[in-house]
Amino acid sequence: MIITLKSNINNEELDKVFKELNNKKIEYKHIQIEANSNEKINLIIITSDAYNLDEHVIKSMPAVGQVLRITTPYKLASRQYKKEDTIVTVGDVKIGGKEIVIMGGPCSVESEKQVEEIAKGVKEAGGKVLRGGLYKPRTSPYAFQGLESVGIEYLLKAKEKYNIPIISEIMGIDKLDEFVKNVDIIQVGARNMQNFELLKALGKVNKPILLKRGLANTIEEWLMSAEYILAGGNKNVILCERGIRTFEKATRSTLDLSVIPLVKKLTHLPIVVDPSHATGNWELVESVSLAAIAAGCDGLLIEVHNHPENAFSDGEQSLKIERFSALIEKGKKIAEVIGRKI
Ligand code: PEP
Ligand code: MN
Repeated sequence: MIITLKSNINNEELDKVFKELNNKKIEYKHIQIEANSNEKINLIIITSDAYNLDEHVIKSMPAVGQVLRITTPYKLASRQYKKEDTIVTVGDVKIGGKEIVIMGGPCSVESEKQVEEIAKGVKEAGGKVLRGGLYKPRTSPYAFQGLESVGIEYLLKAKEKYNIPIISEIMGIDKLDEFVKNVDIIQVGARNMQNFELLKALGKVNKPILLKRGLANTIEEWLMSAEYILAGGNKNVILCERGIRTFEKATRSTLDLSVIPLVKKLTHLPIVVDPSHATGNWELVESVSLAAIAAGCDGLLIEVHNHPENAFSDGEQSLKIERFSALIEKGKKIAEVIGRKI
């Protein structure tokens, strides 16, 4: 259950609500979400059973706006709580609206020249966000770990030159300030989807968060992770399906396409698809991307490289710039059929 509170309520009225809940031994969390720069939405999330709570009593209290019964374990992420689609704004880019947002760039930031060339290609092809990994979650400790903070300058230069926002993956809370300062969308990778301390910290910042689905996580677990960020007060969450682990080894992961229309029913949050990590094979990326557009995704996050054969990581799944551009052109036609646009 969620109790929404009216704006401009006084503490006395608010205390009456808390008192009623305390008397009934109901557990709750009082949270504040920034509606805009000068307004905060106040909510009370009931976290225990509330069978003994008289809704009429609560509703009649002057501080209370609405009482919403939410049947899913995720509350703020739920469509029952918020009927309208959430649109996450990143500069001029809106994720979750009519436009399908294409994000592209290298798996890893490798050099200034590499980022510059790819950023130019991504922008000219119609990409709206530039990706680039600085801290890489590699399976092997001996594999390339990323340029780390050295690479941020390359992304920032490309951002400035091509007027394109940047997305990069955070691996630990210790880097939070660096990411908040420099990055437009903070990516939480599949391996960190249930790093709850990180999610809590990201709930406290006012930056869009792209939350990838874990390697072997259910939709409910994924939405509960989104809930951690929302419950901290950050409402700018973008979900990203990147394939899950199944018995099948022919592709790197198994892309769960049905998750797109399903997630649209369960939550108001936007969902983008990463066809690169889902397939692990550049030859499959175009078809899968077009299918994801047809299924109703709000964006794509695609690995693009100027020289995939020499890439420091994930070259085998990275598109050359020309192929990325061709994909976008085809994607525009599919988008039109379903009443969207790229
Ligand atoms: C990435 O996008 O660079 C990445 C490591 O992806 P994932 O977390 O989906 O494996
Ligand atoms: Mn990669």
